[in-house]
Amino acid sequence: MLQPVLDHPCFNAAASLTTGRLHLPVAPMCNIQCAYCDRRYSCVNESRPGVTATMLKPASVVSHVAEHLRHEPRTRIIGIAGPGDPLATAERTISILRQVKENFPHLSLCLSTNGLNLVDYLPALHEVGLNFLTITVNASTPEVGRYIYSWVSCRGVIYRGEEAAALLIARQRTALAQLRQFPITVKINTVVIPGLNDDHVEVIAREMAGYGVDVMNCIPLLPVAGTPLAACGEPSALRLESIRKQAELWLPQIHHCRRCRADAAGLLSDSDCVPADNH
Ligand code: SF4
Ligand code: SF4
Repeated sequence: MLQPVLDHPCFNAAASLTTGRLHLPVAPMCNIQCAYCDRRYSCVNESRPGVTATMLKPASVVSHVAEHLRHEPRTRIIGIAGPGDPLATAERTISILRQVKENFPHLSLCLSTNGLNLVDYLPALHEVGLNFLTITVNASTPEVGRYIYSWVSCRGVIYRGEEAAALLIARQRTALAQLRQFPITVKINTVVIPGLNDDHVEVIAREMAGYGVDVMNCIPLLPVAGTPLAACGEPSALRLESIRKQAELWLPQIHHCRRCRADAAGLLSDSDCVPADNH
């Protein structure tokens, strides 16, 4: 049986008022380049996925979590969501999750990934006790995905254009097809990009429902200056609402996402994140 989403502030709006999460910024690298992401800058005034003020050393994780819990005992979820992709450095990420589970067995573990390497690590993630997983799926077809992914790096080869998107989509689907064997609650994040995939979100929702995922989070693009997709702009609240209504025909929708930073901590309602995780 899946972990009740009731326990998770990001999967359940009511829990977001009473239950906290702690992100460990321990993932230094990414294996793809989304055309909306720029991880070079860390600015305290800028709250968005991929951004973190500092990287946490693996050896400091246990003391960091213990210190956080002293101040915020309402935290129930320990997540790894960046600033890069946690499975680009999967051995490191899994060893950190293991440390957390051994030292804080009462807490739940959460991971957010682009899904490229997921299929290679599903058994290991299950073995360390992963409870919640978020996969960012921005396209169901390479024709759409080619504009969203600048490159994908897999086993030492860099892929570009439609080939890159096709590879990412195929590897995400291989993992998704295996996920039902594991008692892990799965959320799909889809970044809604005006003019690129905003007419395609229902297609993604229908496809993801076929894989038995639990919930979907349609996130408005947060345009980042200097990135190729900055000019797409943010979808209007009205447009986002109508997209969520269409997607809701297939999957329950999340409406309270705060687009958390890779080092977010505490209650979602208290965080300095922007209302609405591009991962
Ligand atoms: Fe998990 Fe994402 Fe919520 Fe962090 S923001 S706890 S990675 S669902
Ligand atoms: Fe990598 Fe996440 Fe940035 Fe995409 S948004 S390039 S998956 S760090």
